[in-house]
Amino acid sequence: MKFPKSIFLLFVLGIFTCVVVVANDAFLPLGDGHVSTAPQVGYIYSCQQNFAGEGAFRAGGWIMGDVWDPEAKPVVRGAVLWPNANISEVAQDNMRMIETNDLPSHPTGEFPIRPSDKAYQFDRNPNSIKPQSVIVRMPLNPQPAAQPNCVPMGMIGIALTGAEIFNGLDGQGRDAAAHEIQDACGGHPERQGQYHYHSLSPCMKDDAGKSGQHSDLVGYALDGFGIYGQFGENGKPLTDNDLDACHGHTHEVLWNGKLQTIYHYHLTREYPYTIGCFHGAVMQQTARAGSHQENILDLQPTDTSGAMLQPQPGAESAQRGMPDDHRRILENAAHEFGIDPEKLRQALGSPPPDFPAAARTLGIDEDQLRAAFDRARSSN
Ligand SMILES: [Zn+2]
Ligand SMILES: [Zn+2]
Repeated sequence: MKFPKSIFLLFVLGIFTCVVVVANDAFLPLGDGHVSTAPQVGYIYSCQQNFAGEGAFRAGGWIMGDVWDPEAKPVVRGAVLWPNANISEVAQDNMRMIETNDLPSHPTGEFPIRPSDKAYQFDRNPNSIKPQSVIVRMPLNPQPAAQPNCVPMGMIGIALTGAEIFNGLDGQGRDAAAHEIQDACGGHPERQGQYHYHSLSPCMKDDAGKSGQHSDLVGYALDGFGIYGQFGENGKPLTDNDLDACHGHTHEVLWNGKLQTIYHYHLTREYPYTIGCFHGAVMQQTARAGSHQENILDLQPTDTSGAMLQPQPGAESAQRGMPDDHRRILENAAHEFGIDPEKLRQALGSPPPDFPAAARTLGIDEDQLRAAFDRARSSN
């Protein structure tokens, strides 16, 4: 049978079009530049607006203009197990207390990234994964804040895997999932060895989502609202269009053991991946215990809905007992960043000051913070 050339051409074109459409569907929009100073859908309302941090030093071929291909990006190889991973959750007095050593319940890649790893060509993350001491307190039944709150750099939530969840930005304020090289579970360590995700992790347990239902709870944001996987009602994969600026919505969901209508966040394949802002007030008390010291980070509630939380006794006594020259140093250093000295004091915790934690809390560079203190001390 003779096959008309035009029909054959149409057939080939048809296949070609299908392939292009399928390939495009796997690409994700690049989030670079989508950082805002107010809540905005598809953006990260970031407390930090100036970025000079580190990260991957070379963009790979998987970033093509304003899209990127997650399938083409290498992952940090390895299958390191963390048998001491430990997370516990206690509910008491209307509060939920989560304690974790930040080691994940799933295998990780080998960090620091080894020179033989393909990922090393793009990202030379020199940090090792180290256990942390993280305690987070949040309300069992969180309430919306009067205004959404910006998200800091560093921890913005805890995954039920035991590891920390960060916002979707790398140290340079770019799309972290696209630029940085994570392991197969979407995690990597930062300078203090904190293992964390910037995006949806395939290693978070989501049986309900996989079986075509609304996703399971996969973690908690620091304001106490739940974070669920990428599937909404009836198993629909969610995009930014389905969610508000903070990356959440309200409908009936399994929460604290029963079905109830409550606001919750979702992780998505699409930037900003985790949360865009805090829907509630953040009342974070994080203790990081070292071998010789325990620093209490005491973040005050950002609105009155958190007024039930009293300041840490340690922070109070530190304030009362602070000598005048210490106060001047603190004020001078705070002035350099244009922040309230009291806010800086709280971020540093009870003495000795916890610079890494304060830098994370305030979204400023740790070295710059230390340098500001050195300058304030020498001019004092
Ligand atoms: Zn990171
Ligand atoms: Zn939902």
